[in-house]
Amino acid sequence: MVTLMRSLPEGVPGVGPQAARQGLPQVRARATSSLHSVRCPWCLADDDRVVDSRTAEEGASIRRRRECLGCGRRYNTFERIDEIPLIVVKRSGLRQPFDLAKLIDGLRSATKNRPVSDAQLEVLAREIEDELRYEGWETTSEQVGLAVLERLRVVDEVAYLRFASVYKGFEDVDDFRREVGLLDKTTAPKRPEG
Ligand SMILES: [Zn+2]
Repeated sequence: MVTLMRSLPEGVPGVGPQAARQGLPQVRARATSSLHSVRCPWCLADDDRVVDSRTAEEGASIRRRRECLGCGRRYNTFERIDEIPLIVVKRSGLRQPFDLAKLIDGLRSATKNRPVSDAQLEVLAREIEDELRYEGWETTSEQVGLAVLERLRVVDEVAYLRFASVYKGFEDVDDFRREVGLLDKTTAPKRPEG
């Protein structure tokens, strides 16, 4: 069985070909426009063209970069064999298969009452899984947490602070102020329009 997964459009900070940075083999394949289209996560048009296609995860998956013909935004899809589990090593040393539903639940708690849709949460969670898989078959709970922080920071500052407060074990309000100060120094979060 093969799954198709969609990720955030390029240009979002923290999103990118991790494999290239890690020096994993990257094989360029000819881009083609004859593949089935995927619904755009932003404008929901289901017409796109594939602008690039390459293998990832040491040949176990194929990443396609697509451009929406409706709004022009770009995003990636991953095609991979479903059965290969991503293992998460917890701080205790316990090893567990990556649980996408659990991650979505965590993101939902952090974004409660915030303008983030369930569809966006799912895209975020899959994006996080994709990034972790790029880095190998095994990851750690810390890496999962950091990947979540990286995404939430872009999507919603309040959700980011909520998650960070739990993840980083904040003890008092000064920790929050420090985080807010860091946020102020960076660019404002980008949100999809429309
Ligand atoms: Zn679009």
